[in-house]
Amino acid sequence: MPASAMAISHELQASGLRATTARQLVLAVFERLPDSQLTADEVRAHLAGRGSPMPSATLYRVMVQLTSVGLIRKQQIGQGACLFELHRADRRDHLVCVDCGAIVECEDAPVAACAEAQARRSGYAVHHHKFIVYGSCGACAAAGGSAP
Ligand SMILES: [Zn+2]
Repeated sequence: MPASAMAISHELQASGLRATTARQLVLAVFERLPDSQLTADEVRAHLAGRGSPMPSATLYRVMVQLTSVGLIRKQQIGQGACLFELHRADRRDHLVCVDCGAIVECEDAPVAACAEAQARRSGYAVHHHKFIVYGSCGACAAAGGSAP
């Protein structure tokens, strides 16, 4: 089993799903196109193009399952087609103020980038990460927020 297939299998199990062939095939389509939004028809076309055609009913059921555990997410566009994409909302790094609860998204995340680079060198297929800095924001620190 290639490394990417192992990672996908593990990702399914970590999400509480049995790593069935159908689930692995569908998730693999999204892993190969991490920045794409795909309709169910497009996913089916990708599967067929790689020699793994899947009945619509099976594909739909699998996509619902993957969505329900948060591996992919669905966006309703207008009245008709739903677009699906790999769910990577947790990739962003955050600064959290423990005094007022303010949350700032880091625009630049060198620590996380470094960790990801090391993970890749070690053969990891990175799915998501979370890096959070807790402290007192400027305003709270100036107002005498909690001491370190
Ligand atoms: Zn604050």
